[in-house]
Amino acid sequence: MKITDLRVTPVSVPLVGPLRHANGCHWGRFVRTIVEVETDEGLVGLGEMGGGGESAVAAFEGLKPYLLGRDPAQLEEMRFLIANPTASLYNNRTQMLAALEFACLDLLGQRWGVPVCDILGGRLRERVAFASYLFFRYPSPRDGAGEIRTPDDLVADAVALKERYGFTSHKLKAGVFAPEYELECYRALADALPGDSFRIDPNGVWSTEQAIWFGQQIEDIRNDYLEDPVFGLHGMRRTREKVRMPLATNTVVVGFEQLAANVLDTAVDVILLDTTFWGGVRPCIKAAGICETFQLGVAVHSSGELGIQLATMLHLGAAIPNLAFAADAHYHQLQDDIIVGGKLPYEGGSIAVPTGTGLGVRLDRDKLGEYHEQFLRLGSYPYDQDPLRPGWSPLIPNQRWADPLDARTPVIPW
Ligand SMILES: [Mg+2]
Repeated sequence: MKITDLRVTPVSVPLVGPLRHANGCHWGRFVRTIVEVETDEGLVGLGEMGGGGESAVAAFEGLKPYLLGRDPAQLEEMRFLIANPTASLYNNRTQMLAALEFACLDLLGQRWGVPVCDILGGRLRERVAFASYLFFRYPSPRDGAGEIRTPDDLVADAVALKERYGFTSHKLKAGVFAPEYELECYRALADALPGDSFRIDPNGVWSTEQAIWFGQQIEDIRNDYLEDPVFGLHGMRRTREKVRMPLATNTVVVGFEQLAANVLDTAVDVILLDTTFWGGVRPCIKAAGICETFQLGVAVHSSGELGIQLATMLHLGAAIPNLAFAADAHYHQLQDDIIVGGKLPYEGGSIAVPTGTGLGVRLDRDKLGEYHEQFLRLGSYPYDQDPLRPGWSPLIPNQRWADPLDARTPVIPW
């Protein structure tokens, strides 16, 4: 089988509302780039990358000379061709490599008549459990509803999500308001959902001293882990010396060199594997093997996903033995998907690992067209900007918190 063409389509898919985070906001939608790898045998493999837009289309177009005529089974060759580690100092293409790897694995699974998890070692579980991913949220630009700003708002959202999807683990995306206020919110969640487990992630914007203080305040809660309380391995190490719960990261261990450093002088207990950040599903499998060897925990990270990327997370989750935590996904925050049949359903807090060949999901061309039109109409959005505070940026460690009493509604294109 030979690769004959690449097709790249940016899409904009609506979220339930604008999701606030420590570094800005998802402005009521996700912009994703859908990659189709065509072959001489008529099979088409699917990939997906976060963000992008027109610049991502151009960047993928620029990779055609590297890829056309190549066998999609030559995945290690492709790694060095596109993301050679020293050449990457000048031109980092790790995330594009990931999207292409997804598509090639999809092609191989289709060609060999097996699901992708069977190429990765076989499925150890039929379903992957997910945590509810809770966000502070601006009112919807469509109808002004759905704001989440107070502890009561958060609890109501968590209870409704648990009722609808069956989640028993809950993650709070924090780092928006001052830590004292977010502590109140986190404790309210834990009080409202006894028996469930919790995790909080301020995206590394606290100082080490704030991280230690916060961690000590929540030691009585059933925490899965404390995720990225500070930015930097040594800050994590200092926090870990003084806080009695596991620390997790998707920011300071996102490659093998950092993983080696963390094995030699441990700063983080649980490595959150992201199929995009690590450059594909296969690097995540390798990293999970290293974590198994050194008895570090692993979980599956979400950098925002539509159904194609979600499928990579499900196949990864099916194939790694040491997945001891519920995975993260933004998926329940989406209003729709671009795959045939619409959004994959949750049941009992989990999603079934696809059983079809390849990734097991196919493109719905009407939806792809609809959300491409939406992208052309709305364009990209600045992930690292707060729509209510133009020109703002956080410091690291941050002191420029949002005000929980600020009830204004930002103007967001819709
Ligand atoms: Mg995180």
